[in-house]
Formats: sequence, C-alpha cells, structure tokens
Amino acid sequence: MKVDLTVEPLNSWIDTSGKPLIIAGPCSAETEEQVVETVRQLKALNAVHVIRAGVWKPRTRPGSFEGMGEAALPWLQTAKAETGLPIAVEVATPEHIELALKYDIDVLWVGARTTVNPFNVQEIADALRGVDVPVLIKNPVNPDLALWVGAFERIAGAGITKLAAIHRGFATGETSKYRNVPMWQMAIELKSIFPSLPIIGDPSHMAGKRAYLNELSQMAMDLNYDGLIVESHIDPDKAWSDAAQQLTPTAFGEMLDHLEIRQVDSPNREFQTFMEQSRRSIDNVDRQMVEMLAARMALVERLAEYKRDNNVTLFQPERWKEILQTRTETGKKLGLYPELVEEIYKIIHMESIRKQTEIMNNSTQNA
Ligand code: PEP
Ligand code: MN
Repeated sequence: MKVDLTVEPLNSWIDTSGKPLIIAGPCSAETEEQVVETVRQLKALNAVHVIRAGVWKPRTRPGSFEGMGEAALPWLQTAKAETGLPIAVEVATPEHIELALKYDIDVLWVGARTTVNPFNVQEIADALRGVDVPVLIKNPVNPDLALWVGAFERIAGAGITKLAAIHRGFATGETSKYRNVPMWQMAIELKSIFPSLPIIGDPSHMAGKRAYLNELSQMAMDLNYDGLIVESHIDPDKAWSDAAQQLTPTAFGEMLDHLEIRQVDSPNREFQTFMEQSRRSIDNVDRQMVEMLAARMALVERLAEYKRDNNVTLFQPERWKEILQTRTETGKKLGLYPELVEEIYKIIHMESIRKQTEIMNNSTQNA
C-alpha cells in the first residue's frame, strides 16, 4: 500500500463554487485568432473554469502537426487578459516548463506519452522543484497503473501539492469503439491508492469521435469524478489536430447542459436507511463469496495431494475447458456477462494451479 500524497483540494487553486471543474479549449493553439475566438466563446458559456491548449504536441508518428511552440504563448496571454480565465498547457521538458512559467501559464499538465517514461517525468519533477503551480498528470498511454502512481510520486516528491489526475483512457491493443479504452477501474484503483487525489475525466481522448463525448462525460460524472477536460475548437473539422473529437463551444455548452450531475449523498432518512441495509446485505454476500472461495481452494488442495500421491499430471486441459464452459453457461442463465464469469474463473484457475504446483513441489522436497 502506498502512502497517500500531500494534495491540496482543487478549490485551493480554482474556485468552481462546488461544481465539477470544467477545463475546455482547443487540442492545439493554431493561430492567434483561433485561440482568442475559441476562448471568448467558451467564456460566454459561463461554465468553464480553466482553458486548455496544446502548444507542444507530442505526436506518436512524425509528420503530424507538432504545435506552434513558444510563438503561441503570447496568444494565450491575450486570451487570458481578455477573459480572466486561467490557462493550462502540456509540458514535456524542463524547457517547456521554463517557457510556460515565463508567459504566466497557470496550470501545467503532463501528457500520456510523457507519463510512460520515468526519465522524462523525473526531469519534469526536477524542473518543478521550488515552483508552486498546479500539475495535472494524464494516465500513461498503456494500462500500467504503476507508471501513473510513479509519476505522482516523482512530481509530489518535488514538492508539488496542487495535483490532479487526468483519466484519458488507454491503448490496449484491443479493438473498441473508442480511440482509447476507458478502463474505469484503473482510475478507481489510482483513487484507492491516493484517496485525496482529484480525478478529471478526459472524454475527448477516450472517445476519438465527438459522438461519444456525451456518454463518456456522463459516465465520469456518475463515477463522481471531480471534473472534465474537453477539447473545443471554433471550427472543429478544420482543426490541425484531433479534428474528429473536438466540439464547437456552442455544442460543448449544450452537452454540459444535458449532463446529469448526481449527488454523492442524500440527507434523506429513508435513503440513508436503504443504503445502510443494502450495504449490509452486500457485505453478507461478499463474506459468503470469500468463504466459498476458501472452500473451493480446500477441495483443490485435497485433490492436488491425491494427484501427487497417484502420480497424475496437475493440469488437465479437458477439465479446464469444461469448467469454463459450464460456469459461463450457468452465469448466462442468471443474467451475468459470460466475460465476467470467464475472467473470474481465469483468476481462480491461476491460483489453483499455483497452489497445486506448490503441493507437488513439496512432495519433491519431502521425497
Ligand atoms: C492532448 O491533451 O491534446 C493530448 C496530446 O493528450 P494525450 O496526452 O492524452 O494523448
Ligand atoms: Mn488532443
């Protein structure tokens, strides 16, 4: 178990009047007019707290638009002076940090392609030592929780306390309707390691297409995320990067209006009683599940000893096939996804094999 980070709450650096933090802006700063006009329109929605804009764009392949660099920073200053909205940019090197701070950028974020590399993250952390600036850290491109955790430990280790995670989904190699598979459980696990860390959903980079922004934003809100970061551009189809996933500020405002933000809790007595009863029932079922697992494992152990004493091989593929098939079928009849039952049984089976191997090896030692 990791030690929780020292994290200041979001409202220590941004006032959202108790609402989820909304960060919006173009994927990339392209021209002064595009930046200033997008920010103007976002400001008019009266719902955006921070502006985002990519100035240095780490692209997976060369040849794509790699950002305007330092030239774009004065445009962001202009947009900020006009609207009063704080500005966030992505930084990937100590030089980016130096320039961002020189041009009064208010919030920095570490991109998914940087979080994957502990050398880069450490260089960024070293450059941030002694600086008091909010830093948002995107999940690494690949679903490796330890890289994300490590990035927080490095940046927090440099003394940064205004921290938040951005969950932008993962490249898993599997085909999905989304550009990056959300794998919501990864963000939930991060939160259980660092309970005080705010989590911001990035539906844009999860979706890859604007049609999915709504459902992904709603999901993040339903999971009680602390905010959203969404790409918005005055003319999305002509955007120089991530065109398919950007929304006009007007469309973004409409999406926000339709988001349902549910309460975390309700003061209603009836609701509280129902919650308590349900949780007790769930605790009860969970205890039974764990007891059943232990009972199953005891049977496996007895069988393994018997196999050992009769010189029978440990792993019998036919039996495993039958287990998988019958268990998923039973699950299906009870309304459970076959994939769920299959995944659970894969874990149970792995543990049975481990236990059985242990028993077999014991015999060799004892022989
Ligand atoms: C971005 O925010 O535009 C970006 C490059 O995102 P990511 O690091 O999540 O790919
Ligand atoms: Mn982008």
